[in-house]
This record gives sequence, C-alpha cells and structure tokens, in this order.
Amino acid sequence: MLDKRAIELVEKGMQGKGLEEEEIAELLKFSPYSAEGAHIRWGGWMLARQASQGVAEVHAQIGMDASSCYKNCEFCSFAACNGLRPEKLEMPKDEVLDYAKAYDEAGINLLCLMTTASYDFEKFLDMGSSVKEVINPETPLLANIDDFSYEQAIQLKEAGFDGIYHVVHMGEGEITNIDPKVRIQTMKNAREAGLTLSTCCEPIGAEHTPEIVAKRIKQLIALEPTSAGIGLRVPVPGTRFMNDPRKGKIDWCFYSGVMRLAIGTKIALCGNTYLASDSGSNFGWAEVGTNPRDDAERTGQRAGIGHGVAESKYGFASVGWKILEGPSQGWRI
Ligand code: SF4
Repeated sequence: MLDKRAIELVEKGMQGKGLEEEEIAELLKFSPYSAEGAHIRWGGWMLARQASQGVAEVHAQIGMDASSCYKNCEFCSFAACNGLRPEKLEMPKDEVLDYAKAYDEAGINLLCLMTTASYDFEKFLDMGSSVKEVINPETPLLANIDDFSYEQAIQLKEAGFDGIYHVVHMGEGEITNIDPKVRIQTMKNAREAGLTLSTCCEPIGAEHTPEIVAKRIKQLIALEPTSAGIGLRVPVPGTRFMNDPRKGKIDWCFYSGVMRLAIGTKIALCGNTYLASDSGSNFGWAEVGTNPRDDAERTGQRAGIGHGVAESKYGFASVGWKILEGPSQGWRI
C-alpha cells in the first residue's frame, strides 16, 4: 500500500504547475528504493512526456580545456586544490571544429562549449564564432564558462551564442572559491544581454538534506531557465569526495522524478544523460573532451560518464520517446 501523502503529492505534481518548497522536501524524504520512490519516478516520467509531447532531445557539450582552475570547487577534477591537472591542456581549434561538425552530423539539437575559469575570454569568443560557422546556424549554441560582466555577455551574444549554462553549485562559497552572488549576477547579465539560461541543481552530496535541495530547486525555478537539471556529486578519484559512495541509476532517476514534479512542464529537464529518460528528463547530454566529473583527458572512458549521441538517443528511444529532428527551440529571446 503506497503512502497516501506520496500519492497526493505526485498527483499534484502531475498537474504540471510545480510544487511548494515543503512539498518537494517531503518527496525527497522517501527512499529512492521504496514503492513510493518508484511511484515518484513514474509520475515524473509521465509528466515529462506530457511536457514535450513524447519528443526527447540530445544536447551536446565539448569540454575545451583542463587547465588547473583557481576557483577550487573541491568536487571538480579541474580544481587547482586537487592537483589532478598540473599541465595546461587546451583542445586545438581544429579538433573543436571536428567535434562540432561530427555532432552536427549526428543530429544533436543544441551545442554547448565548456571551459574552466582559466580559459582566455577572447579566445573563447573566437572559438564560438568559428564553431557557429560549421554547424547548422539554427542550432542553439551555449557557453559554459567563468563568471562574466554585462559587457562580456553582449560580446558572447555578438559572437553567436544564444545562451549560457551556469550554476550556483551546492555549497557555493563553502567548498568553492566563488561567491554565490557573483553566479547569480552573471545569470542576470546574460539575461539582460539577451542570452537564455540552462542551469542545474548540482552537485548534490550526502550532506545536502531534502530541505536544502528543495530550497535550491525553488531558487533555480525563479531564475526562469529554458532548461534545468539535477545532478548528484560524482566521487572523482583524487578529489576530496573520492570516497563518497557512488550513486546508481535508481538514485539519479529518483531525483529526476522529484525535480520534474517540482518544476512542472515549462522547463526542459536533463537527467544523467539517458538514465533518467523514464523518470522525468526529456533531454540528455552527450559529452566529449574534458569533463569536471572525469579525471581522464578525454571523457567517455569511465562507465557512466561521457555518453555519445547514439547512446543518448537509444536511451530515450528504448523507453518510447521520439527524438527531435532539428534545432532545440526556446533559446532565442
Ligand atoms: S567547477 Fe568550474 S569554476 Fe569550479 S573548479 Fe571546476 S572548472 Fe573551475
């Protein structure tokens, strides 16, 4: 017999108008491995399909550098404090363009270029302009970079970027060398310059209670992103969190289910690539190049990290989704 409150909250969430902060926290208190946890995942899945008419998307990211990053987010393989990336490592332009062309041919719906905070801004603008020339011009292009001013946001827009991926990390300012207010200001700068936002509630660790996560989810919704995600902390070898127990599919899917019920139907939701395709997400990320959740020079060598486009498409298709053909919508203001 399912808990009555779980049924009530899932029914409310499935109306697509979102949930209150306290209600999100209540859902997060159920075990991902309980019958209620499965019911929450089911509710998220059904709502995700309704939100996007059963059509999923594959977004793709190219990690362009792995230079030691002075922002020192302790969970990140690039953080200088972890000492995992002593050498400056930047992907040559021709390789970035090759990856972009390959992604374009593979039928991605959106492309994001990612760097550490150590990457030169002018070089990034040049890279963005060049990438824009080799992909479908209608494919949204996002920047996942360091914090920036309004003037720099205008430059990003002029270089051809449509939006940004930007996050206030869980524990920002405590286990990172970044003021959370600066992160929010960057998002405001982007919006004022006409750039759209993709964001995420991440990386969630064992110390983040249901109340803390629920509060962050509501803060994230208030930013009015075009897309969002929810991510559990990956215990990257060599980082402070390397001995944290690694979370599995059910945990990731449970959080995606809660997140979907919490955000309703207006925001696209990514899961851990295709894993959460049956639990609330309606798009997944394919990743190449460097990756903060991976200590390899090129991601994709460790299980569960760095999926390809075909794998992501298969993940969605295998549970009944169609895949969008053409550019993702809603990224131009
Ligand atoms: S998460 Fe980003 S800002 Fe933080 S250390 Fe890693 S690359 Fe730098």
